[in-house]
Amino acid sequence: PRYLYSFRPGHSDATHPTAALLGGKGCALATMSQMSLPVPPGFILSTSLCARLTSSSSSNSSSTTATPILFPDSLTSQIETALAALSDSVGRVFGSATNPLLLSVRSGAPVSMPGMMDTVLNLGLNDKTVEALAKQTDNAIFAYDSYRRFLSMYANVVLSLPNALFEKSLSDMKSQYDCATDADLPLKALKQLVNKFKHHILSETGIPFEQDVFVQLRNTIAAVFQSWQNPRAQTYRAINHIPMSLGTAVVVQAMVFGNSGPTSATGVFFSRDPSTGVNKLYGEFLTNAQGEDVVAGIRTPQPIVRVTNVEGLSKKNSMQEVMPDVYKQVVDVSNLLEQHFKDVQDVEFTVEKGTLYILQTRAAKRTALAAVRSAVEMEGEGLISKDEALKRVDPKSLRQLLHPTLDSDVERDVVATGLPASPGAASGVVALSCNSAEFFAQQGLDVILCREETSPEDVAGMHISKGIVTARGGMTSHAAVVARGMGRACITGVSSMTIDEEKGVVKLDENVSVKEGDCVTIDGATGQVMLGKLETKPAQMCEEFKTLMQWADQRRDMTVLANAETPEDVRRALSLGAEGVGLCRTEHMFFDADRIVAVRQMILAEDNEVRTDALNKLLPMQRQDFTEILEVMQGRPVTIRLLDPPLHEFLPHEQHEFEAVARSAGVSVDVLKARADASREANPMLGLRGCRVGIVYPEIYRMQTQAIVLAAVDVARKSDKVVCVHVMVPFVSSVDELEIVRREIDNVASTILSSSENEEVAHLVQYTVGTMIELPRAALTAGEIARQASFFSFGTNDLTQTTLGMSRDDAGSFLQNYLKSGVIDRDPFVSLDIEGVGMLVELAAKEGRKTRKDLKLCLCGEQGADKDTVVFAQKIGLDAVSCSPFFVPVARLAAAQAAI
Ligand code: ADP
Ligand code: MG
Ligand code: MG
Repeated sequence: PRYLYSFRPGHSDATHPTAALLGGKGCALATMSQMSLPVPPGFILSTSLCARLTSSSSSNSSSTTATPILFPDSLTSQIETALAALSDSVGRVFGSATNPLLLSVRSGAPVSMPGMMDTVLNLGLNDKTVEALAKQTDNAIFAYDSYRRFLSMYANVVLSLPNALFEKSLSDMKSQYDCATDADLPLKALKQLVNKFKHHILSETGIPFEQDVFVQLRNTIAAVFQSWQNPRAQTYRAINHIPMSLGTAVVVQAMVFGNSGPTSATGVFFSRDPSTGVNKLYGEFLTNAQGEDVVAGIRTPQPIVRVTNVEGLSKKNSMQEVMPDVYKQVVDVSNLLEQHFKDVQDVEFTVEKGTLYILQTRAAKRTALAAVRSAVEMEGEGLISKDEALKRVDPKSLRQLLHPTLDSDVERDVVATGLPASPGAASGVVALSCNSAEFFAQQGLDVILCREETSPEDVAGMHISKGIVTARGGMTSHAAVVARGMGRACITGVSSMTIDEEKGVVKLDENVSVKEGDCVTIDGATGQVMLGKLETKPAQMCEEFKTLMQWADQRRDMTVLANAETPEDVRRALSLGAEGVGLCRTEHMFFDADRIVAVRQMILAEDNEVRTDALNKLLPMQRQDFTEILEVMQGRPVTIRLLDPPLHEFLPHEQHEFEAVARSAGVSVDVLKARADASREANPMLGLRGCRVGIVYPEIYRMQTQAIVLAAVDVARKSDKVVCVHVMVPFVSSVDELEIVRREIDNVASTILSSSENEEVAHLVQYTVGTMIELPRAALTAGEIARQASFFSFGTNDLTQTTLGMSRDDAGSFLQNYLKSGVIDRDPFVSLDIEGVGMLVELAAKEGRKTRKDLKLCLCGEQGADKDTVVFAQKIGLDAVSCSPFFVPVARLAAAQAAI
């Protein structure tokens, strides 16, 4: 079988390159080769090898190196042939003692996993070839710089030795020779370093550094495939729902040298600004540097495009100024790549002695703001269609645009400033390590993670933090890229900051220090760090956002409703585009201080008299609640769910709470306590709740129905417009329950609506009765239930709990484990379990509609804005989804994507 595909400018063995086979990086390199862009030639080992090579070599064996890794025979011969062709096209020979070819060996998965797996550069150096390289280039410093880089990467990736060992020797050497940066090290120091590194390898593994370049190559290929299984790659896959089965490809490519002198450089550019989306090339580079020096934040990089400060002065260090010819080529390549890929590109490049080479391109990770702006602008530029623009934006990411920003009126006492790497404002306690970030997060605190710089090991810690601050690195550093992808506020390059992890102290500036656990506020849009917690204000939505949302509304078929009950939430939902309220949870109104006593009196009432007294107190309050909501919604449909949760949730606990209820009900505390004890349940989630309450205590549902219909009448009278209320009965498992409850509701409603005083407005009140489908039995008997229901709302939270037999509140302890070990690849409470719970929903929808053709169907669980759930809802023909207010724009876009 064919494992290997070569490429060089003007040619690619794979005529229709795909990321599935070649990995994203390999696919892009092959494509750029076909476009005749300046790509160093090389070959790709396909993803199909990954499973084979990783299963045949355990991670232990690679750490002791000696165990040979089994390559399929034909692979070895395919590599030999490709190497010979590569030598021909570059005019150098791998392992030659006079004219050596050096290689990079790079990982590349079908989906981008930046920095998660390993790369080895300058492969092919040994004690002989390094001399040849020095002689040939007449640049021994460069040759030994490359050699020390190779030794440490090989040691780390192939031999699994810790980086720190090598970094320590490097920084010792720098201080010994009094050098500010790596690039200043004299030849003598570099040679010492090379010896030191070889010594580390020998003493740590007991085996001398491998001098045979072919063995170097084989071991490295195997190790890079193996890096697909490293813990940080696993974590990244878990967070991003990337299946392990994809595997990585490996790219073997001729080296080009950004570290070969002052006219050489390495860097990264974005075809548009990844932070704002502005259509302007954005990038950074470092002269005389190699590989990820830019990303690793080792020196502070220079800008590609000229930057002028407020006084109109520029620092004169941009590529535009120092390498104008290369700059022009960069701009050309950027345009060509955008035209070809029709998307914002993130490009890695190297300049060797004034010649530009492109090493990688991929769709740029960007903030939601940038995604929205570039999608809408690219439609305007004729690059993409409206549908394509809609597909470009990850619905979930829109949450970022709804992120709070710092109120501009609030005084800012800025104690440190860095680069505005990812927007959004965040306050939280300072954590200096991922462990302490986790510790604080577990206590429910918001965390700001402060690091010297971040590395892929920090990804999990960044995920649980609200914001990230780093001392080093630029706008394209690891921290910046990852934070933007996750939608976390981030500031990089805060050069005044020094961190003492051992003491748990950060010096933000000469005079200002904070300890771990102290509170700070950061503004990722300006790069400012402030002490304490500052007020934030809700996000402003840009024009492009509104445009995209309009397109989404035109495109989607499904209605988007909100789960909201307070007038404030309802107003927010409306302003975020909700077309009505899909779920108004009446019990949320019961906790307010002024009414909880009456609610408790209602629950603990010994007899009807006491209960009726409590209900009479509650009626006007609920009526007022519903009136406000119906007024805000101005005729849009509002679905109100009758009391649902286990009654015990409202029970008093403290002595003074009992006393308050006792006073209000006119009974003794002891009686109340006895009642409370008697009503405790072993498993309240499956106890006296939902319509069961409505059947046991019909007067409670009666009161609620009264409040709803009276409110509707009030609003209809005042507005002289149609008012649309849907009364929803929760936790039904049989049609008989619904029939009983429904009869009560209809009685109450028709009494009110047919009374003479409401005669002239009654026709304006549209009211229907329906039910939640949230128990498996309800789903299975939906055809029956539909006889009594005008609508179904799928309560997928409870339906998931009861179908999986998994309590949402207790699932935390094992779900993480399940996700990590691959038992499930998504949290079923976040994204609907389509194979299981979805089956029930689909069945109920179908059976329900058989009974009642115009049965309205809605999905109102937490999953209501999840992309895959919405796609499923569309597929099975639901009319609407309902989600919490901040998710409404997310659901609108997801529904549009579902319709495309
Ligand atoms: P990652 O997936 O982590 O970005 P890469 O495979 O892109 O890893 O390698 C990291 C860096 O190594 C690149 O950005 C580039 O600077 C450098 N590099 C990779 N291949 C070559 C090459 N053929 N010549 C010079 N530098 C290279
Ligand atoms: Mg890397
Ligand atoms: Mg890269």
